[in-house]
Amino acid sequence: MANIVKTFLLGELVKGMSITLKNFFARKITIYYPEEKTPQSVRFRGLHAQRRYPNGEERCIACKLCEAVCPAMAINIETEQREDGTRRTSRYDIDLTKCIFCGFCEEACPVDAIVETNIFEYHGEKRGDLHFTKPMLLAIGDRYESEIAKCKAADAPYR
Ligand code: SF4
Ligand code: SF4
Repeated sequence: MANIVKTFLLGELVKGMSITLKNFFARKITIYYPEEKTPQSVRFRGLHAQRRYPNGEERCIACKLCEAVCPAMAINIETEQREDGTRRTSRYDIDLTKCIFCGFCEEACPVDAIVETNIFEYHGEKRGDLHFTKPMLLAIGDRYESEIAKCKAADAPYR
């Protein structure tokens, strides 16, 4: 009987409309992406980059710690000794189709060479597009060095 009365009084409809009305005036939590974007942490783990020192020298010393720590085995490194006796990578590849963006490579790096930037708007259209080589990673680092340095500086007091 109660259910029949409820049905005739449109109780469920009124309840639903009251929720709609309440949310109509509530603070909006949707954003108009890509024109609007949510705030990002300085620790955001996006696209990888390889950094250089201000004199242009690449930071990476080919210690392979990042390759060893990577749980997805996404990093491949080959090394060589230069004429001045220093060791550098002759190959440094990251397969982003394997990467799980855990950030271990960045944490393990003793010279802040490999980093994860706050870039998340990238994509691949065919096989191999997300296979990033050393020149590609260095180019990203060169292009976004000021943003990377800013994020590192902002995060430094908490380390
Ligand atoms: S973020 Fe994690 S999974 Fe991706 S390359 Fe670095 S260590 Fe490997
Ligand atoms: S990126 Fe860092 S951890 Fe990886 S090989 Fe280079 S110096 Fe070592």
